[in-house]
Amino acid sequence: MKNLLFNQTPVFDKLEKHILKKVDSLSDEYIQFLSKAKTERTSIKVISELLKKYGYKEIELYQDSLKELPNKFFIIFQNKNLACVNLENADINNGINFLISHIDAPRIDLKQNPLIEMSNLLMFKTHYYGGIKKYQWLNIPLALYGIIMTKEGKKIEVSIGDNANDPIFVIPDLAIHLSSKMIEKKMNEAITGEMLNAVAGSIYSQHEKKENQKIKLYALNILNKKYGIKETDFLTAELQFVPAISPRYAGFDLSLIAGYGHDDRSCAFASLKALLDYIPQKTNKAAVSIFYDKEEIGSDGSTGAKSRFIEDVIYQILEHKIRNFKSYYIRKILLKSNVISADVNTAINPNFPEVFENQNCSKLGYGVVITKFTGSRGKSGASEANTEYLNKLTAQFAKDKVKWQIGEIGKVDEGGGGTIAKFIAKYGCNVVDCGLPVMSMHSPFELISKFDLYSAHTAYKSFLKLK
Ligand code: MN
Ligand code: MN
Repeated sequence: MKNLLFNQTPVFDKLEKHILKKVDSLSDEYIQFLSKAKTERTSIKVISELLKKYGYKEIELYQDSLKELPNKFFIIFQNKNLACVNLENADINNGINFLISHIDAPRIDLKQNPLIEMSNLLMFKTHYYGGIKKYQWLNIPLALYGIIMTKEGKKIEVSIGDNANDPIFVIPDLAIHLSSKMIEKKMNEAITGEMLNAVAGSIYSQHEKKENQKIKLYALNILNKKYGIKETDFLTAELQFVPAISPRYAGFDLSLIAGYGHDDRSCAFASLKALLDYIPQKTNKAAVSIFYDKEEIGSDGSTGAKSRFIEDVIYQILEHKIRNFKSYYIRKILLKSNVISADVNTAINPNFPEVFENQNCSKLGYGVVITKFTGSRGKSGASEANTEYLNKLTAQFAKDKVKWQIGEIGKVDEGGGGTIAKFIAKYGCNVVDCGLPVMSMHSPFELISKFDLYSAHTAYKSFLKLK
């Protein structure tokens, strides 16, 4: 009797010992990566350091002084966007295999004028970034990251909360003792955006006892000594709270990794590692990985996937590689290109079985997820991958023994979501979402499986070979 049924087993099942070692070293390295990649700016830093180690040269977009384009290079745009390119053994006329991910994650931004004294405390006013369940961000340690620029144009990098000696910040929740009315409320009414104020200080100086806003003044004195800034410098600053919680293994068997920002830094890391490990074959397509910002708020803006950055990167290649190229060549190249939108999907959460459909939702530990479509309410707003492309991709995965699974975001009409896929699909290239399953997505402490991380890494390496 032939085996006609579709049977799924987890990645760890029958895994050889030497592969298990690779799984562990990859996840160890990922934990290091994630503990440093806390914001898009710090992610760019960590990614570019790694690229340099592997012989990638940094160039600027349309750099006039550039005589020859290196075969391995990367471009940083506005410190929040990065494209790395490997042209070794590639003919650009064959198109490009793109691994595209995003490095922004939901968080709590400071308001432009954030410092305020409320009763006897100094507080930071905030405006959240991305889709969050607000209650999850109360009473957890928060670290402050970002950039403040002084009047003199000095750029100050702020990072407070992730070093053992640093203070942290907290958005205080209401004690249960006084919550009898609150717990009866709807979740989105119980905690509103304007309630997300974080405690920033509580004491004042004896000399300034009689001053207005004396607690604020005391804190500003500390900031002025440390950074040379005044309150007005906040007005133009870029500051954000992220969980001051380090990623770590979860479960007795150390099979899971809990951490902030798995969406989408787990896919970004797996893409980066795939590109670094990739050995280009002759007559291959070029290999490019792009890390975008602003995905969590709709991919708008100059550093989001709706920008023209991808076109600029291709123009940059054409300018050096094809003499007298015509502008429509960029269309030809994109039409011949393959894209993996390396983004996560929602893993089945056993505490909430009512929203998942077991046969079609992704499971932690069962491998990288191919998400054929996203969107909501009858696939609305989705870029659906066509079967020809899925066939080509999964055939390559089979050759390279990549374990993968399918995934749908919960039951039909239960919710939904989107990715970068549809913004890239407008160019006419093959695009599919393919990334890790994540539990408790967009929470300050998400869960992934280290086996899925390994699976994603092998999948992305396999994809880069695609003809
Ligand atoms: Mn994502
Ligand atoms: Mn997301």
